[in-house]
Formats: sequence, C-alpha cells, structure tokens
Amino acid sequence: MSVEIPAVCVEGIEKSFGSLSVLKGLGLTAHSGDVVTLIGSSGSGKSTFLRCINLLEQPDGGTITINGELVRTRQDRNGKWQPADRRQVERIRSKVGMVFQNFNLWPHMTVLQNIVEAPVHVLKIPRQQAEEEAHALLRKVGLADKPGHYPSQLSGGQQQRAAIARTLAMKPRLLLFDEPTSALDPELVGEVLRVIRQLAEEGNTMIIVTHEMQFAREVSSEIMFLHQGRVEEKGAPEIIFKEAKSARLRQFLARAA
Ligand code: ADP
Ligand code: MG
Repeated sequence: MSVEIPAVCVEGIEKSFGSLSVLKGLGLTAHSGDVVTLIGSSGSGKSTFLRCINLLEQPDGGTITINGELVRTRQDRNGKWQPADRRQVERIRSKVGMVFQNFNLWPHMTVLQNIVEAPVHVLKIPRQQAEEEAHALLRKVGLADKPGHYPSQLSGGQQQRAAIARTLAMKPRLLLFDEPTSALDPELVGEVLRVIRQLAEEGNTMIIVTHEMQFAREVSSEIMFLHQGRVEEKGAPEIIFKEAKSARLRQFLARAA
C-alpha cells in the first residue's frame, strides 16, 4: 500500500499587518490534480493567503509543505517562529506559480521575452529550448500568432493568457490564480476560463480565487469559503452550492448569483 503525499499541505497560517489580524490559522490540503477554490467577500484574506503560500508575504506562523518538502518550520527550540530563509523562498517560488488579477506582464518585453525570461535566467534552460517551449505554450493558450507582440498591443484576455503561459514556462508543481478574470471585460472572461479549465482537466494542482461561481462549481474538487481570515465552511461543490450550513455562506452565494 502506498501512502500518497499531498501535493500541498498548508497548516495554521497566521498573518497580521500591524495590529490587523488578517489570517487566523488557515490551512488547506490538495492532492495532485486537485482544484481548490477560495471564495469569500472582499477583505476576507483570500489574496493574503495565496501570497503566503508562495511566500510573497512571510506568514507570522504556520507550515507549508510542497510535495513533502517542508518549507517553513513550525517553531524553534525556544518556541519562536522561524521565517523561511532565502533559499526556501527561491525553492518555493520555483515550485509554485502565480497568476495575478492584473497580469503583471513586463510592458517593455514582447510576449515571447516575457515567457522565456525566467526559464533562461532562473532554470538555466538554453534560450533556444526555452523559446521552443514558449511557442508550444503560446499554442496551448491560443496565442500562437502573438510572440512578437508587446502587452499593450493585446487585449486583456490575451494578456492574461500570455501571463498564464509565462507561469507555466517554469513548470510549477502548484498553480495559484488570484481573481484571474476580475480585471477583464465580461466578453473576455470566457477565453481565460477556458484555458484554466483545460489546465484543471490536464491534472494540474491548482488553488483559485474567483468570483465566477458557475466556473468554481464546475472545476473545483473542493471549495473553501473564507470569512475574516478563517475557513467558515468548506466542501465539495455540490455540498457548498446545494446544502451550505453557514448562513453567511448562503448569503454570500445569494448575492453572487
Ligand atoms: P481579499 O483578497 O479576500 O479581498 P486581502 O487578502 O487582500 O483580502 O486582504 C485582507 C485584509 O488584509 C484586508 O483588510 C486588507 O486591507 C488587509 N491587507 C492586505 N494586504 C495588506 C498590506 N500589505 N498591508 C496592510 N493591510 C493589508
Ligand atoms: Mg484579493
């Protein structure tokens, strides 16, 4: 009998900004191929939680384990929290890819340059190989004809698909999406969701923050509803959408519908 190691296991994440306690012991477990979706009102801590998982924010407490590698130790002998060191930060960044609401492409670089920059400089992949892989990724996200375009020459939907290709170029073990369609005109949302849905179907392990409830319902293996930095309720989509126990969650879903 083999015991499967979770792709990602996050436990007890705490984070404050000054006196404001934003995350109050949040955890999450995802096995390989799982899609965990975070929902919740603005300010409930969704972005901060994602940013803590790839150490864009240093959590004040908690542990993150990616494919069995503990990235943050819990406490030292004196009971003090130990922040991740620089090497741990680099390792986790190379394993965890993030797609942001506002694409965050480098404006002075073409789409192709945006995609090959990190593989060439961080992963030390030969440029020609990185470019071949970039073209394959561009085909995958429907941008085969845009490698030489600058971000400003693309629609929002195209920019976000290029940003997804850039993230995939690092071959991450875990993909984080923070409201990937919130900055898009409604008619461009579908083309980005289609790409994310395809990534889910291909078995990528993903954590997604979204307000697209129909999409969440269709792609998620688990949905977590955050309220004021805590998990108020979590479960399979059919449970969350049909028989939510939390009154707050039912209210949230009614407003989102
Ligand atoms: P969500 O993504 O669910 O809307 P956030 O994680 O962005 O929520 O924010 C949660 C809370 O943390 C909010 O009250 C927000 O103002 C606060 N916050 C987030 N980032 C910072 C920061 N860098 N400095 C101070 N407060 C922050
Ligand atoms: Mg947010």
